[in-house]
Amino acid sequence: MENGELKVTATDHFTVELAAELYGLSAWGSGYFSIAENGHLMVRPAGSGSRGIDVYDVIRRLSDRGIETPVLLRFPQLLESQVDKLVASFDSAVREFDYPERFLPVYPLKVNQQRSVVEGLLSSGRRHALGLEVGSRPELLAAVALDTAPESLIVCNGFKDEQYLSAAALANRLGRRVVVVVEKPFELQAIMDMRARDECVPMIGFRIRLQARGSGLWEKSGGFASKFGLSTRQLLAALDQLAAGGLRDNVALLHFHVGSQITEIRKIKSAVREGSRIYAKLRKLGVPIRYLDVGGGLGVDYDGSGTSSDASVNYTVQEYANDVVFGISEVCAEEQVAPPSIVSESGRMLVAYHSMLVTNVQAQIPGIDMQPPVVSGQGPQVVQDLEEIERTISVKNFREFYHDALAYSDQLYSLFNLGLLSLEERATGEGLFSRIAGEAVRYSKSAKFIAEEFRELESKLHDKYICNFSVFQSLPDHWALDQLFPIVPIHRLNEMPEHRARLADITCDSDGEVEKFVDRKEIKDALEVHELKPGEPYYLAFLLLGAYQDTMGDLHNLFGRVHEARVVLDPQGRTDIEDVRRGEQAVHALQHFGYSEDELVRRIERALSGLVAQGRLSKPDAAGLLEDYRIRLRGYTYLAR
Ligand code: PLP
Repeated sequence: MENGELKVTATDHFTVELAAELYGLSAWGSGYFSIAENGHLMVRPAGSGSRGIDVYDVIRRLSDRGIETPVLLRFPQLLESQVDKLVASFDSAVREFDYPERFLPVYPLKVNQQRSVVEGLLSSGRRHALGLEVGSRPELLAAVALDTAPESLIVCNGFKDEQYLSAAALANRLGRRVVVVVEKPFELQAIMDMRARDECVPMIGFRIRLQARGSGLWEKSGGFASKFGLSTRQLLAALDQLAAGGLRDNVALLHFHVGSQITEIRKIKSAVREGSRIYAKLRKLGVPIRYLDVGGGLGVDYDGSGTSSDASVNYTVQEYANDVVFGISEVCAEEQVAPPSIVSESGRMLVAYHSMLVTNVQAQIPGIDMQPPVVSGQGPQVVQDLEEIERTISVKNFREFYHDALAYSDQLYSLFNLGLLSLEERATGEGLFSRIAGEAVRYSKSAKFIAEEFRELESKLHDKYICNFSVFQSLPDHWALDQLFPIVPIHRLNEMPEHRARLADITCDSDGEVEKFVDRKEIKDALEVHELKPGEPYYLAFLLLGAYQDTMGDLHNLFGRVHEARVVLDPQGRTDIEDVRRGEQAVHALQHFGYSEDELVRRIERALSGLVAQGRLSKPDAAGLLEDYRIRLRGYTYLAR
């Protein structure tokens, strides 16, 4: 280490400790990930002591069962640990500030609706009365049938129509503690109409539009122009309307949400204070609110920097809980009103850690043409000029020579386009330019300050590792928002990673690449990776994917849902692989877009019969080809190894 920076050179004796430092495991891993002496990535559910789950071993066992990468691994024990952590932090804050009311967490279903995830959370959250937040009627229909503690809440957000509200009334009749949150003025009339239909009107909440905003990628969820929430005037008008309809006593909850992944604690503090002040003023008006719902936004430190960068947070879960409890308590004391029960809708924090995608690197594309060019000394002038530069570039002249090479490279293409160069000459020129660029980058590193031009050049010259996955299916937030996720090889972590590479997926879209990587100090433009060994798979894990990625992935190029498995550590320290779910077959991906298997097969059958009738194919060959087509339709959508 030098000035706190990790320098890995070919002469270092590489250790798993160095690897852990290089990939930042202890910075972003929240204690759940480590590296074993054999260089394998380990998952350590809280409280497992020295025992852990060997991820490489899991992938090998799955492969023996015919489940090849890409595969999404879920670790339900991490869900349990996160629920405990959230509740323990609030319990500690409640004790510290002598807060007289309880903390009631609700899990927002939209963050990850997978049944195993939700049931995992609810079973560990039962003792803490973990409830659910829903944003649509389908989510409500699931929530009402799930097993939650009797005192837990179902908070209904999102746009509400008559059918959504009738489902809420049904949930109410089933004895669920349902709160229907008014987010838009027009929803109020629909709620009043429930009474006219003799439906049992649940508790009513209001989502308010705060002036405070969050920070980070989801900042625009807060502030005056946000899509959701009532303005102060709309709130007061709504209360009058409810009073006139005899429903004022149903008002029980006040809610705000200023955005997900709030990176700065001061933004949380100001939102809590503003929300608490509105709560207190409403109490003073005699509105019987008893829950203050502070929404989501509790962020995850994806890059481990502990800063207010988009991929991080500058606070801990305990600090968050302390600031929420203290902020509410202080405002209520100033206003002399009874403090509310505190509801939080944290989703990302609860589920982000529990899943990782493991995939294999399919191929490597070198960034620099490593083939020594065929140098003749006799080709066209422009090629000879490039040869000369390649031979004489040095630490003293690299900048000037590189600029000359740029000009010759332009000339090369112009001459080719005019028909004055052959393909072979173009190939020699391209190879020479690529090597010159590589040399220029190498020499630029000896300077005290590396010029921006060479930094950019270096990032263009990184190798590409082609990974068997789709960014659009598995990392949608990276594609849409440049969100960063930690990426780590799952094996060979006791060997020095000699290369730096960008990761390209297997879609045909140039956006399907990962070009930014987490780091505590900066955003890295390449990931340290190992040399690929012929005939040996090389696996990378994309971590902390549990929040939002499952739901938002799409079927670009018809790459479908990946295989999944749940992995747990049993009390004896053995790894159990449970609930293996095969990923989508090609035919299922096609069905989403209106193709039916029968019809596709019939069409191929018809085409083959035509060829047989013309004598261009034998009957057995046609039968074989048809069978082949059927098998392929039933295959996994990703590349086979
Ligand atoms: N509540 C509401 C209303 C939301 O819109 C969201 C997501 O943006 C959440 C809760 C969950 O937020 P987070 O995952 O940041 O905790």
